[in-house]
Amino acid sequence: MNNPVDVSSLGYGRSIFSPEHDTFRDGVRDYFRSFIEPNILEWEKRGGFPAEVFREAGKRGILCAGIPEVYGGMGGDFLHHVVLHEEHGFSVAGASMEAGACTDGIAYAILLGGTEEQKKEWLPRFASGEVIAEIAVSEAHSGSDVKAIKTVARRDGDDYLISGHKMWVTNGPISNLLIVAARINDAAEESAKHSSIKLFLVDRAHVKGVEVSPPTPLMYHGAGMVSQVFFDEVRVPKTAILGGEAGQGMRSALQVITTARLCLSARMLAACELALKLTIDFTQNRVAFGERVIDFQNSRFKLAQVKTEIAVGRAFVDDTLRRNSQGPVDATQAAMAKLWVSDLEGRVMDECLQLFGGLGFSAEYPISKMYAFARAHKLYQGTSEILRLAISRTLD
Ligand SMILES: Cc1cc2nc3c(=O)[nH]c(=O)nc-3n(C[C@H](O)[C@H](O)[C@H](O)COP(=O)(O)OP(=O)(O)OC[C@H]3O[C@@H](n4cnc5c(N)ncnc54)[C@H](O)[C@@H]3O)c2cc1C
Repeated sequence: MNNPVDVSSLGYGRSIFSPEHDTFRDGVRDYFRSFIEPNILEWEKRGGFPAEVFREAGKRGILCAGIPEVYGGMGGDFLHHVVLHEEHGFSVAGASMEAGACTDGIAYAILLGGTEEQKKEWLPRFASGEVIAEIAVSEAHSGSDVKAIKTVARRDGDDYLISGHKMWVTNGPISNLLIVAARINDAAEESAKHSSIKLFLVDRAHVKGVEVSPPTPLMYHGAGMVSQVFFDEVRVPKTAILGGEAGQGMRSALQVITTARLCLSARMLAACELALKLTIDFTQNRVAFGERVIDFQNSRFKLAQVKTEIAVGRAFVDDTLRRNSQGPVDATQAAMAKLWVSDLEGRVMDECLQLFGGLGFSAEYPISKMYAFARAHKLYQGTSEILRLAISRTLD
C-alpha cells in the first residue's frame, strides 16, 4: 500500500507548469510520501484522519499556495493550488483521504467573496492549517436543488439565529469553520419568495448550538469522514455573512464550486494516471498460463485505450487550468471538465481493477479503494445529471 509510485514515467509532456510549480510539487509530494502514506492505514483503522493532517501541511507551507502573502498565503497562483490536488490524486493514500488537506479551496471563496475583515481574520489561519473549513449546503431533502434548503437564519438585532440540519459535511468531526448556506428570514420578509440564501461563516469555537454527528457510514470512506450537522438557534453576528450583508450569497458559492470542479478534475486525472501505473506494474509481475498478464493482447489494448483517454482528457483539462490561472473560466467549462473526467475515471478504475483479477477486489490493493472512491465523484460537486443540465442551458 505504501510503496512510492513513480508516475512521472508515464511520459505525458505537460507545458502548463513553471519550474516554481515543479519545486512546489516536490514539497507536496514529500508531504504525501513521508507524512500521509506511512500513517494512512492507522487512520483508516481509527475511522478518520486527525486535524494534524492540516497542521503538518501548514507547517510545510503547502496550504493556500495561491493566496496573496498579505493574507498569509504563499503568493503563488491557481496552478500551485492545482498541484496540491494533483499530488493527492497521485498518492496511493489519496483515495483514503476524501478532501484531505485540499479544502483550502474555501480560502478562495473568502479571498474572492469575503470582506477585508474576513480575509484578515481567516486566511492566515487557513494557511497555517489551524482552520479546517467545510461547506455545509446539502440537506436531507435538498442536494441538487440548493434553492430548496430549509435551514433558516432569523434576524435578531445585529445577529442572526441559524436553525436547521445539514448532511454530508466533509471532515465534519474535525472542522472548526463551517460555511453554512441558510435562508434569510426576518420578520419583515415573511414571504419565502423574498427570502434569499446567504453563506455564513460559523466559527465553532465561538458559538453554541452546533452538534456534529459521528461519521456517516458510507459504501467506502477510508480515513475520510462526512457527518450530519445540527444547528439549534446558533447565534452569529451579521458580520459572519460571507461578503457581509450585501454579500453575493450563492453567487460566491458558484465561484467556489467552479474552482473546486477544476481542482477535482485535475485530481481525478492524476488518480487515473496512478491507476494505470499501478496496473502496468501489477500485470508485469502477474503470470497466468505461463505468460505475464501484460503480454496478453487484451491487457495491452485495454491499457493502451486507458493511456490514450487520459492523454485526451489532459489536453482539455490542462488548457482549462491554464486559462483559469489567468482569470476565472466560465462555469460551463468547469462543469464539462468535471462531467467528462469523472466519467473517464469510473471507466479507468473499472478496466484497471479487472486486470488485477480477484486481488483488485481486495482492500490490500489501492485499486479497490480508488474504484470505490471514484464512484463518489459522479455525485458530489454536482451530480453528472446536474452538470449536463447546466451545460445544456448554454445550447440555445
Ligand atoms: C462523499 C460525499 C461527500 C459530500 N460532501 C459534501 C459537503 O462537504 N458539503 C455538502 O454540502 N454536500 C456534500 N455532499 C452532498 C452532495 O453535494 C449531494 O449528494 C449532491 O449534490 C446530490 O444531492 P442529493 O444527494 O440530495 O441527490 P438528489 O438531488 O436528490 O438527486 C437524486 C438523483 O436525481 C438526479 N436529479 C436531481 N435533479 C435533477 C434534474 N433536475 N434533472 C435530472 N436529474 C436530476 C440526480 O442527479 C441524482 O441522480 C457530499 C456527497 C457525497 C456522496
